[in-house]
Amino acid sequence: MRDKIPFNRPAITGREIDYISDAISSGRISAGGAYTNKCASLLEERFAINRVLLTPSATAALEMAAMLCALEPGDEVIMPSFTFVSTANAVLRMGARPVFIDIRSDTLNIDEALIETAITERTRAIFPVHYAAVACEMNSIMEISKRHGLLVVEDAAQSVNAFYHGKALGAIGHLAAYSFHDTKNYVCGEGGALCINAPEMIERAEIIREKGTNRSRFLRGEIDKYTWVDVGSSFIPSEISCAFLLAQLEALDALTEKRRAIFEFYREHFAEMEEDGLLSLPVIPPGCAPNYHMFYILLHDAATRDGLMVHLRQQGIQSVFHYVPLHTSPMGERLGYKRHDLSFTEDLSDRLLRLPFYSDIEESDLMAVAGEVRAFLWRGRVGKR
Ligand SMILES: *Cc1c(COP(=O)(O)O)cnc(C)c1O
Repeated sequence: MRDKIPFNRPAITGREIDYISDAISSGRISAGGAYTNKCASLLEERFAINRVLLTPSATAALEMAAMLCALEPGDEVIMPSFTFVSTANAVLRMGARPVFIDIRSDTLNIDEALIETAITERTRAIFPVHYAAVACEMNSIMEISKRHGLLVVEDAAQSVNAFYHGKALGAIGHLAAYSFHDTKNYVCGEGGALCINAPEMIERAEIIREKGTNRSRFLRGEIDKYTWVDVGSSFIPSEISCAFLLAQLEALDALTEKRRAIFEFYREHFAEMEEDGLLSLPVIPPGCAPNYHMFYILLHDAATRDGLMVHLRQQGIQSVFHYVPLHTSPMGERLGYKRHDLSFTEDLSDRLLRLPFYSDIEESDLMAVAGEVRAFLWRGRVGKR
């Protein structure tokens, strides 16, 4: 019997243990040591981001972003419903209201053409989510935000090392969040970063992250003692996590290249099936350079998707669907949404299936996945005749 092919396996570069040992022998494993600083500088330089603050997760970075937007009860934030819960929770816990709008059927990203009709007197910000690390239409979104005086926070959790017309995702909005969770391309178990592109937000971000104190300025020698100056929390990661992360970030291009090859393998193997109308493949618009975060296929309907998932599982292959649209969740219902509010979001999320994708997946496993998808869909087609 064939070995089980998992959906995800974190990539290990080999230097993680060395860096962690080094951090331990340096005698400093709490936040703000050499590895934390190296990771932040590397991200700032590679992606031309004004300031990067490492955090324990993208969730934490999104929460910081919502605090920095100074959201107040009753304020509204426009975002897609087709996203992870953290995008909406960050807004909700400020007492503000996530306003869900529909996605584009090609990229599954927020439909920028629907943003302006959702803007009200209470709208303060737009939180676009780059799905699968394919960029949202950021030129339009930034233009709309400027016209209406809104802040833009990119949920770039999946999008480290992905680009939009030459600009890094995470370097475009006023603020952005990256994730280094196990399921992302570059990992440290649990980890994230807040990207700050609006320079006037840097000082308050440092304070919020350091429990509401100006300790960051103290550590830089700018003041001789530190004190409580604002509301804050602990949004700092351990030096151990950052030591692990540096090993990953140093291999950024090598890891991306491996993922590109896997993406192209799937795309080539399914091209003919797309021509035959058996499935649809991801669309990458001109100007978008993704980091090949995932490979998904869109099937005809939910029944075909669910049937294919079962078939793959029977062959020892793990495939997964993605977000249950937030507006149809129990929490979404409490916010006043109901099924049929966002038709593209509901239809596409019902038909989407993500295939096994990790940088050291064996070619024979890829062949097996592609072969089983083909076998299942061809059988369905013959059956219909
Ligand atoms: C993974 C993910 C998050 C959460 O990241 P964590 O680091 O696990 O908190 C948020 N938003 C999106 C779009 C994600 O894919």
